[in-house]
Amino acid sequence: MKEGKKKPVMIGFIVVCLGLASAIAYMSRPKRSGLDSVPRGQMIWVKCRNPDCGAEYQIDNKDYWEYIEKHRNPMLLSAPSLICRDCENKSVFRAVKCEKCGLIFFHGTVHGNFADTCPECGFSKMEEQRKSGHEQR
Ligand SMILES: [Zn+2]
Ligand SMILES: [Zn+2]
Repeated sequence: MKEGKKKPVMIGFIVVCLGLASAIAYMSRPKRSGLDSVPRGQMIWVKCRNPDCGAEYQIDNKDYWEYIEKHRNPMLLSAPSLICRDCENKSVFRAVKCEKCGLIFFHGTVHGNFADTCPECGFSKMEEQRKSGHEQR
């Protein structure tokens, strides 16, 4: 019976992971009518996926969400790419800056860890918050 039990556990684990990922995506997204309530002045990091460019820069969170709302493809679940201000390709995506080593990287770079685990030093803010019991709501 031991072997037979493993599979449902794995499936359950994957379901939990998927649920968590969509919950995070849902929570980090402003509500449909709430774009106006997104405050201006909060800067977020974005990064160009074009290997010849690799530009990293900050944009206003509100500008980002306005762009996302405008260019959202209802057929795609993922966020649309932004136009790079350096190479002018549509290859810029939201990124995160490591609070420890300052590296700018995309969420989910390190597989099997927290989405914001730094590929350089392994620091994860989510993990820190979970450990200290101050989970983001
Ligand atoms: Zn670029
Ligand atoms: Zn780091």
